[in-house]
Amino acid sequence: MTQENLVVCTKCGAINRLPLTRKGSDAKCGKCGARLFSGHPENVDAVNFDRQIGRGSLPVLVDVWAPWCGPCKMMAPAYEAAAKALEPNIRLIKLNSDAEQSAAAKLGIRGIPTMILFHHQREIARTSGAMSTGQIVNWVRSHLPTDAS
Ligand code: ZN
Repeated sequence: MTQENLVVCTKCGAINRLPLTRKGSDAKCGKCGARLFSGHPENVDAVNFDRQIGRGSLPVLVDVWAPWCGPCKMMAPAYEAAAKALEPNIRLIKLNSDAEQSAAAKLGIRGIPTMILFHHQREIARTSGAMSTGQIVNWVRSHLPTDAS
């Protein structure tokens, strides 16, 4: 077991070492001062997305969405509530597939909203279609090894 988590800032991409004993919910980025877990899943660009997956030690849940997508808009409050339930043990982020088309293509996104769960730099689960807060939380917990949540 590691004694600390590596948490990638969603604003500046800095990697923050967060001791497991420290409460993550009020931790701030050592570089830019942003809260590491704001309770509002942040939209990230392709570069930050790759860092979240590749450099952070937490499981990462990404919601791939687009501004024109009705079901995505409907799910946004549920996703935000899920972040309050799952962070800081899991990092929740959003990827705008219109703004980051090549990143979305690389992920092989066919329809949105699509949620993908990553752990140890690998995709471990994916699901499409809007879900309620409870469904999101249960879906994530059903796919994560117990020591990770
Ligand atoms: Zn930062």
